[in-house]
Amino acid sequence: MNEPVRVVLLGPPGAGKGTQAYRLATRYDVPLISTGDIFRRNVEEQSELGLEAKAYMEAGELVPDDVVVGMVTAVIDEAHKEGKGFILDGFPRTIRQAELLEEHTVEGGFPITAALAFMLSDELAVKRIAGRRTCVVCQRPYNVELSPPREEGVCDRCTGRLIQREDDSEETVRHRLEVYHQQTQPLLEYYSERGILREIDAYADVDLVTDRAVATVERLTADASGAR
Ligand SMILES: [Zn+2]
Repeated sequence: MNEPVRVVLLGPPGAGKGTQAYRLATRYDVPLISTGDIFRRNVEEQSELGLEAKAYMEAGELVPDDVVVGMVTAVIDEAHKEGKGFILDGFPRTIRQAELLEEHTVEGGFPITAALAFMLSDELAVKRIAGRRTCVVCQRPYNVELSPPREEGVCDRCTGRLIQREDDSEETVRHRLEVYHQQTQPLLEYYSERGILREIDAYADVDLVTDRAVATVERLTADASGAR
């Protein structure tokens, strides 16, 4: 493939997006850019944008889109200088961020080549996340639906007690899904209008999802380089 892969990943909590993002980034040897990590790094390193973002967060305000986009494009530009693409996980979150990202990448001559939406029904997302349990002793993860322990509430490995994290309660998951639908539906339309959105069934086996994601990214990226 001549053109580096430049990918946006979208999908609800529970869709396994983080795993797929990691696998794609490893396969293509490109940076995996997740906004959470970038925030932390910029704040830690006290970069100009990091300090700005911190001031907003400490004031209890949302970090403005241009500050978030500034942090992301700094990493993207670095990758581009090395002739590399990138995988974006959890960004953009708003139409404004998508527009700023598009402006920057189109101007720079390295537009997004593919947007993948990992699709999972709310019911399955809840089942996957609310079913998670972790051993308090050895941290081994379980899922009461998908990979239950031999004895309910007890770790197979060390007989430790299994607990559910607060973030994984059904109520929290339902709220996260609501926010996701509000924010992301417009993004699906945004990338669909640009002809680079493809939906991938995230309910399938994780390796199969990876195979489909890879095939889709390569087809779309080949199309993008053919169009240039
Ligand atoms: Zn254990």
